[in-house]
Formats: sequence, C-alpha cells, structure tokens
Amino acid sequence: PPAIRKISEEHDKVFVTGCLEPQTNGPRANAALVVLARNSELQGVIQSIKSMERHFNRWFHYPYVFLNDGDFNTTFKETILNYTSSPVEFGKIDPDMWGYPDWANVDVAREGIRKQGDKAIMYGGMESYHHMCRFYSGFFYKHELLLKYDWYWRVEPDINDPFIHMERAKKTYGFTIAVKELKETVPNIFRYASAYKRLNNLTSKGLWEMFADSAEVPKLPLDDDPKYKPPLPEEILSTEAGQGGLPDVDPEAMEGEVYNMCHFWSNFEIARLDWFRGKEYNDFFDMMDRSGGFWMERWGDAPIHSLAAGALLSPKDIHYFRDIGYRHTTIEHCPANAPGNRQLDRPPFLEMTTKDEKKRIEEDEYWETWDSVKENGVGCRC
Ligand code: GDP
Ligand code: MN
Repeated sequence: PPAIRKISEEHDKVFVTGCLEPQTNGPRANAALVVLARNSELQGVIQSIKSMERHFNRWFHYPYVFLNDGDFNTTFKETILNYTSSPVEFGKIDPDMWGYPDWANVDVAREGIRKQGDKAIMYGGMESYHHMCRFYSGFFYKHELLLKYDWYWRVEPDINDPFIHMERAKKTYGFTIAVKELKETVPNIFRYASAYKRLNNLTSKGLWEMFADSAEVPKLPLDDDPKYKPPLPEEILSTEAGQGGLPDVDPEAMEGEVYNMCHFWSNFEIARLDWFRGKEYNDFFDMMDRSGGFWMERWGDAPIHSLAAGALLSPKDIHYFRDIGYRHTTIEHCPANAPGNRQLDRPPFLEMTTKDEKKRIEEDEYWETWDSVKENGVGCRC
C-alpha cells in the first residue's frame, strides 16, 4: 500500500539518494569568512573559495570579507563575485593597523628584519610578513568590516581540497596515521594476502615492503600445500563458522617474509572508489573473504585495505596526509610534530610525497628512520 511505501522510502532516503543535503534551514551564526590577500594571489584565492563553496558554503552562504593593505583592483573584485553567491565585502586596511606604529623606530626594525633574513629564519627577512602577523595578532578584529560579526573563519589563498589534490597528483589512497595491528586479530591475514600476490604473479611495486618484514619474494608453499591452500571454500563455506578454522601460523612455512603488523589506519581514509570497485581489489577481497578470516579471526578493514594496497599499488599512488591533523580515540596525528622521513633508507615515504612536500620535508627538523616508522608508526601524540 502506498502509505507503507512512503514511510519506507522516507526511512531509507539516505540509501536511495546518497547523503542528505546539509540542513540549510537551521539557525545561522553571525559569522563571516575572512580572507586577507593581495591582488597577486587571485588564483590561490579562487582555489580556496571554490573549495569552501563546494564543501560548505554553498549551503550556508556565509558572507565573505576580503581585506588587503592595498586596494583590491577591479579584476580581483569582479572575479571573486563569479565564484560565490554569498554577500561579499572588500576592505582596505589602513596604515594604523598595518605597518610600523609611530612609536616604532623604523630603522631599528628594518635592521632587525634584515638580520633575520641573514639567518634564513623562515619569512624573517620579509617585512610584509611581519606586518601581516602583527595585523592578525592585534587588529583584524577591530577592522570596521568585521565589527558587525560575532564569529570569523579565517580562509587563506591556496588551501587545498584534498580530493582535488589527490586527483591532480594521481593518487589512489591517502592516509594520515599508520600503526601496528594487534597480532591476535590477524594471525593468518598475511599468509593469504601473500598467497594472493603470488597466485596472481604480482611483483611488488615498492609498497609491499612496507608491510613485509623482508623484501625477499616469499617461497610460501601456499598453493602446493593443501593445508594452506587459499581460498578454502570447502573447509570454510561448507561448515559453520568456527568449525573449519584457519590453520595456525607456522613460522617455518613463511620462509623469510612475515607481516610486520603495520597498516594504514582506515578511520581516516581518502581513496578512489574506482580502485575498490576494480577487478583486482575485488579478487583480492573475494580470496580473503573465502578464507573465512573475517569470522575465524577478526580481520580489520584497515589491514585488508593496506595489504591490498601493498599488493596492487605503488608508493607513488599513496598520499600521506601529514598536514592533516586527526584524532580518534587514543591515537592521533599532529602535523606539528609529525615524524618526517628524510632519513628513510627505503621507500615508500619519500616517493609518496609531491615535490613541494619533499622540499618541506627536507627542511623539517623531525626525522625518524624508516625502520622506526615501521616499528612505531607515524601517528603521534602532541
Ligand atoms: P603562510 O601561510 O604562513 O605561508 O603565509 P601566507 O603568505 O599565506 O600569508 C598568510 C595570509 O596573509 C594569507 O592570507 C596571505 O594572503 C596574507 N598576506 C601575507 N602577506 C600579505 C601582505 O603583504 N598583504 C596582504 N594583503 N596580505 C598578505
Ligand atoms: Mn598561507
């Protein structure tokens, strides 16, 4: 009857139409998006606005306030208006909020800045940067265009939309934390993943070594030895879960290659769905699934995703979002003291990074060895 169908359609709406649109009729805060920028930064500003609009503001229409110590030109102003339907205001920052106050000794100040430049202090030699920092420290909230607001969200040029970033960089899988799995949840997972790789004649593209303790190709007799033969449809599928069971780990049978329990923590994960939908990943999943390991052991989706990536992807397909802070339960990644990877003697981390990141990483103070990353992971505590 129509009445019942209506209820169930409503109830299942999210499954029918995808994610629900954000609630747009709720209360709105008295807030503005604030962008300090120069005319020359127009392209970066457009990038940021597009991202803000696409992921947030197209539903909320919060107003923008653009501020500049100079005058915004017509091109800047007209272009910005093309990228948002929200109210926009452009404001100039007067000299009383930007630059040296009259009590400052400008010669001494400039000399100080010059010295910082000599010492290669980051931005230390750039006069305008000092003014910017002072403005954001003590003045922006007093700017006449912001006085009417209770809240502000600071937006900068060139903020990255992680999807676009991944797409441009041709990445498949992105993570922010790598940790060690609890051994007892996955005693046999590697045996099967490794067998999948071998049965399909997959040679490592360089990522497998992140999870395997030895780079050597294993001489696992999995496909010869009936005891270890994957998949195990008869043993597993014909019996009730709990009866068939996976074979115990026999270290002898691993012949040189064992799982180091490292895996990308999947509760933060940005990845291409078409990779998951592809034949290779599904073959991998089917084989892992048919082993019964999802019941006979407590295989997590994180090591499954990671080992699939290890078997199928190369380091350059992976992006480490070292710049995205993330916390869940007791594990967190904090960009501020994220371990860098300069001294990693082996891939994949150096290859994972884009050129820009590489440069930043090379300047980073915090380094750990690749062995240490494998041992301790790359999540960290602040
Ligand atoms: P970083 O993020 O620390 O590398 O510094 P940015 O160069 O991105 O500067 C931070 C913010 O201040 C950005 O929104 C810049 O557009 C803005 N900004 C920096 N210096 C100036 C300046 O001299 N004039 C103006 N109008 N904006 C500036
Ligand atoms: Mn910036």
